[in-house]
Amino acid sequence: MNFNLSLLKENLDNMSLSISDEAVSRLDRFAGMLAEKNKLFNLTAITDPDGIAVKHFADSLSVMTVCDLQSAGKILDLGTGAGFPGVPLLAANPDLDVAFMDSTAKKLGFISSALEDLDLSASFINMRAEDAGRDKEYRESFDLAVSRAVAPLNVLCEYALPLVKVGGSFIAMKGANAEAELSEAQSAVKKLGASLAKTVDVPLTDGKRTLLVFEKVSPVSEIYPRAGGKIKKSPL
Ligand code: SAH
Repeated sequence: MNFNLSLLKENLDNMSLSISDEAVSRLDRFAGMLAEKNKLFNLTAITDPDGIAVKHFADSLSVMTVCDLQSAGKILDLGTGAGFPGVPLLAANPDLDVAFMDSTAKKLGFISSALEDLDLSASFINMRAEDAGRDKEYRESFDLAVSRAVAPLNVLCEYALPLVKVGGSFIAMKGANAEAELSEAQSAVKKLGASLAKTVDVPLTDGKRTLLVFEKVSPVSEIYPRAGGKIKKSPL
């Protein structure tokens, strides 16, 4: 086993989640591929069996506690990196319609070949989120966007919310700083046509995480997302 399965199960139990034996086997094979590829180029700093179980797998799967993914429609994993949270979610729910987005092509290349080995299908968008948000094909086209460890919430909202359909949701996966980030993002959330639906604490064995769930209530003004470095330089 390429990760600590009993630690994953303990964390899933704490969230009242369970996954199938097939899902465990897919996660194990994915952890093996991640370790292998990580020797060639840097995909993740977390490589120990406990870290993979908790920080990668349990944390990613925590998204299942706040929404019914089976009926979620088109899902976007924005800034997926080595595939988190999207790959564990897909490994546990093989029928999902997931698009993996990252500005780095080689990371998407890794996910694409790993998913092929696992017999899972998905789509891939090698773009910056703020460019995709101004592209007709992607703007307001996803039912659910999820994102972990990409940017502070006020910046992340301008990346993610233009991509979400009115009536859809955005889940920001945050750590200890969630409350502070949320208070700094109040104005961004409002300007981008969203509202906070719920805040859910996730009690992982290595510390608390927080899922911030937003609902997209109205269309985003054409002026967002802004171009160039403005989003980061002067967050809404
Ligand atoms: N979500 C993963 C990776 C986090 S690292 C995890 O939690 O492990 C952040 C990733 O987001 C990197 O792979 C980076 O290339 C990507 N990224 C950062 N800003 C982005 C943007 N504006 N659009 C698309 N991808 C972005």
